[in-house]
Amino acid sequence: MSKSVLLLPGDGIGPEIVAEAEKVLRKVNEQFGLELTFDSALVGGSAIDATGVPLPEETLSSARAADAILLGAVGGPKWDDLEMARRPEKGLLGLRSNLELFANLRPAILYPQLASASSLKPEVVSGLDIVIVRELTGGIYFGQPRGIRELENGERQGYNTYVYSESEIRRIGRVAFETAQQRNKKLCSVDKHNVLEVTVLWREIMDELSKDYPDVELSHMYVDNAAMQLVRAPKQFDVIVTGNMFGDILSDEAAMLTGSIGMLPSASMNAAKQGMYEPCHGSAPDIAGQGIANPLATILSAAMMLRYSLDAEEAAKAIEAAVSKVLDQGLRTADIMSEGNTRVSTAEMGEAVLAAL
Ligand code: NAD
Repeated sequence: MSKSVLLLPGDGIGPEIVAEAEKVLRKVNEQFGLELTFDSALVGGSAIDATGVPLPEETLSSARAADAILLGAVGGPKWDDLEMARRPEKGLLGLRSNLELFANLRPAILYPQLASASSLKPEVVSGLDIVIVRELTGGIYFGQPRGIRELENGERQGYNTYVYSESEIRRIGRVAFETAQQRNKKLCSVDKHNVLEVTVLWREIMDELSKDYPDVELSHMYVDNAAMQLVRAPKQFDVIVTGNMFGDILSDEAAMLTGSIGMLPSASMNAAKQGMYEPCHGSAPDIAGQGIANPLATILSAAMMLRYSLDAEEAAKAIEAAVSKVLDQGLRTADIMSEGNTRVSTAEMGEAVLAAL
């Protein structure tokens, strides 16, 4: 059965890096007989320029209809002075909320060839391959009531509410267990069980769910310890699952273990496994249009898309192997360049991945 992919290049380096990922997707589409169809639409600043809004109705309906979405990045100085509601980022937030993309998957993979890019010792991070599953649409970032109020004594008080319902915990838990099943079958749930009732319930539900996934080894860890362990011995982890705020912090920490933002993919999925896939980096306006951006994070996002939304594990693995091969060949874009390697452009990197496939 044919499946549809919506390409949303966006702004800045977005169109340059999505073009390379599209070539790679079209190639594996042929090689593996995937029957993917492709469409593209405007989002972010480019949508504002063309239609006046960051998420045109047409884009939203194409996104709803697609099996998966590949996004470049949005934003740039041109649109920085617009009022909040009309900023390019609203296009992304609109897609996340309209499609109910509650599960954010962020792998932190450090190809051994790039171990010197990390600020940690190569032996601590070389070969690192973990995934953080972060709940994206609930928790303290969305809980009500929230605000800043004035107390009777005239002092101001800021307040937020940390809430998770059982169903919210269960659905992110299932994504995490299933992700672990597709990998090394180890899941670490991160909470603050000793202080926060919300995470007492979180832990209870994770334990309950683990009965449905007997092949996955579940462990629990306090978030403060997890932050330490991630820099002490990150390779002890396979999949980590946690709430929105802890996940926000830990996934950035894990990303930085790898030292190269141009290499990191991400996925946001809903209950139907429909997903939006994008590099972790932004639109890099400082290098846009120069043909020097690293397209690998977007190409690796395409691999995640094949794995998690399009049921095409073999094609995903082939892309990941091809990326590893071009790194072995010593090909590097400027952001990951080091002595003794060959510097290539965005398009040359894309071509090299195609040739390695
Ligand atoms: P950024 O990630 O765009 O850039 C940070 C630095 O990393 C820059 O020096 C940039 O040149 C470099 N960089 C990023 N991606 C690269 C790549 N693929 N290859 C080589 N170098 C790369 O972050 P920023 O500068 O803080 O933000 C720029 C714009 O992007 C802003 O408008 C911001 O709002 C937007 N942004 C968008 C997203 C998104 O679309 N998901 C995420 C973050 C930032």
